[in-house]
Amino acid sequence: MEFNYRCSTCRAVYDIAPQLTVCPVCSQHQQKDQPLTGVLEVELHGPLTMPFAAVDMLPVEPVYFPPIPVGNTPLWEPENLRRSSGFQHLFIKDDGSNPTASFKDRASFLVSAAATKFNIPDIALASTGNAGSSMAGIGAAAGQRITLFLPKSAPRAKLVQALQYGATVHRVNGNYDMAYDISLEFSKIKGGMNRNTAYNPLTIEGKKTVSLELFKQLGRAPDILFVAVGDGCILAGVYKGFRDLQQLDLIPSIPRIIGVQAETSNALFRAFTTGKFEKQPASTVADSICVDVPRNGIHALAQVKRFNGEMMTVSDNEIIEAQTSLAGSTGLFAEPAGAAAFAGFLKAAPGLDPDAVIVVLSTGNGLKDSASAALGIEVPETLIDSVEDII
Ligand SMILES: *Cc1c(COP(=O)(O)O)cnc(C)c1O
Repeated sequence: MEFNYRCSTCRAVYDIAPQLTVCPVCSQHQQKDQPLTGVLEVELHGPLTMPFAAVDMLPVEPVYFPPIPVGNTPLWEPENLRRSSGFQHLFIKDDGSNPTASFKDRASFLVSAAATKFNIPDIALASTGNAGSSMAGIGAAAGQRITLFLPKSAPRAKLVQALQYGATVHRVNGNYDMAYDISLEFSKIKGGMNRNTAYNPLTIEGKKTVSLELFKQLGRAPDILFVAVGDGCILAGVYKGFRDLQQLDLIPSIPRIIGVQAETSNALFRAFTTGKFEKQPASTVADSICVDVPRNGIHALAQVKRFNGEMMTVSDNEIIEAQTSLAGSTGLFAEPAGAAAFAGFLKAAPGLDPDAVIVVLSTGNGLKDSASAALGIEVPETLIDSVEDII
């Protein structure tokens, strides 16, 4: 297989090179507080040798892969939920089981591999928490130096996790959007690779592997897939995987993908409705999908429109309730952003075909943010001294 970059805006073709991030031409029209213009996509060419292996569809050779087992996450068949919801072909893809406990490992893995290939020992990025702890963990395995910019509100567990992995962490006196801008300035001055989501095209490309795995695990593409959306990079990655499978004649069509946002962090949902991105301050209990400016908004939205996808929102209460009901009925404890996709499924369920093959993407482990998780339960305050106290 051969690979190149193609600009998702002007369609120009470029060789894959480490210093290339967004399209040099289109990014000159980048406006402040708007999603990235000129996001680059990896394009693949040539026939696939059978039997089909996902690694053959990636633009970095396996010899450069970091020594840490990312992906190949389990696809759950939640019996209780299937019975209670009436959806007999409901699946949950548990990406919280990745090495650093979130979906972000798929992107970090490919970025790390490219950095190794091009002999770049330093990687910098901004993150709400998961991308940072992910890059830190995978960088630790690969022997790379990671510099991370985190918003001041990032959950403690994610901060601690990144520090455990040995990353240099700068806490930004502001939100994720501020961290994003500072990290880009840092990379311009310091060089090295920047892993900011969507800005580095390999983040989207790495995320496509979830679709390739789903195809392998199901023996087909799902009919419907629910995915939580912040910057829109997972959403675009999921589409990219299915588009590659379709290009190679492995699936007949692109599944219906439903992007789920928090009501109070819904920039992509609003743009889906109005056609325009307007910055509005976001805040939600699901910190991983809390973004003012969805960096991959333009690119992701174009795919949702082209392939008849949908955007929907769920309230913070619905997210908290979904988190508890998912944990209590399946044994899968997801962080709020991960549970948001499930909340979307619960809300949309009355309008869905009960025979459809439905996948809910659970993107992060619940232990990542125990403060938010505590909102949906009651922690016992009374201490007992003996068994008589409770029987
Ligand atoms: C990053 C993240 C998302 C959203 O991904 P985007 O690419 O920002 O849309 C969803 N869930 C979790 C747990 C995440 O870490």
